[in-house]
Amino acid sequence: QSKNNGRNQIQLFKPEMKERLERKKVLEKGLPHAILNDELFLVYQPILNTVSARIEAVEALVRWEHPKLGLISPGEFIPTAEDIGEIAHLEEWVVTTACEEVKKWNESLAEPVRLSVNLSMKHIEQTDIHLFVKDRLTQTGFSPEWMTIELTETTLMRREKETVKSIEKLKEMGVAVYLDDFGTGYSSLNYIMRLPLDGVKLDRLFLQKMKQDNEHYTLVHSLITMKHKLGLEVVAEGVETKDHLHMLEKMGCEKIQGYYIAKPLHHQVCLNMVKSGILPAAEIV
Ligand code: C2E
Ligand code: MG
Ligand code: MG
Ligand code: MG
Repeated sequence: QSKNNGRNQIQLFKPEMKERLERKKVLEKGLPHAILNDELFLVYQPILNTVSARIEAVEALVRWEHPKLGLISPGEFIPTAEDIGEIAHLEEWVVTTACEEVKKWNESLAEPVRLSVNLSMKHIEQTDIHLFVKDRLTQTGFSPEWMTIELTETTLMRREKETVKSIEKLKEMGVAVYLDDFGTGYSSLNYIMRLPLDGVKLDRLFLQKMKQDNEHYTLVHSLITMKHKLGLEVVAEGVETKDHLHMLEKMGCEKIQGYYIAKPLHHQVCLNMVKSGILPAAEIV
């Protein structure tokens, strides 16, 4: 609260603002040590193929168990990591750990699952990302053909030429590259025209607003058709209901992810689900 809180003065700092600022400071201070202190862990969310009725991929999502603040979502601390220059360090831990864990799963599975990892555009701006990924794959022994990179967009793309080259090199290695949260950023269309992508993940906001025969339904349908015409794969995110699932199936979108299939799960729980092939919602297949 500002010191001189006279009656005619504008109150500059509201208590909530102060709290938010303090929380931000605590996160900024703690993040550089979070890895060493063993405070980060990964959860995995399945991606279902409705045609083969198989979980064909899992997406690694990072979590932070802060000693004082408790569980913090990446929606809050990824932007912080980007701001304080910790994103490359953090994602090195995420990709290494995910590769190590899912490599073990795949050794025990009849058919391997793909692994999706998120990489921030901020990180991609700073690094030759194909070298970063190659390093992680070499170190862990994870096979490139089973890896998907999801580009998460938080800033406008810079270093476009270098980014295009990096993606091309990733594809040569056998790694797939998707654009995450398609349809939310102002530059989504720009990206799919310029980047040599394998596919896109349709943001869950689209599905939330989609009902049979409304304009969002038409929009999602057009996007799916367009993507298929452009030779891009489409994964629908945020599938929360049976209605969503059936509408997407009718539109020819077979790769789906969302709470209706499963929430992000702890390592062992996700492996068990992949292994058994039994889905929580029985009517899915
Ligand atoms: P994302 O990559 O688009 O991941 C999907 C997010 O939506 C996840 O939130 C997931 O828990 C949530 N979600 C999945 N299905 C549903 C659903 O049916 N309904 C609803 N309401 N939500 C659903 P989460 O785990 O909090 O992650 C948020 C974002 O944080 C991710 O969005 C991704 O952009 C970012 N993120 C997570 N891990 C990493 C990472 O290692 N690196 C980078 N750069 N970003 C990451
Ligand atoms: Mg993602
Ligand atoms: Mg997404
Ligand atoms: Mg998202």
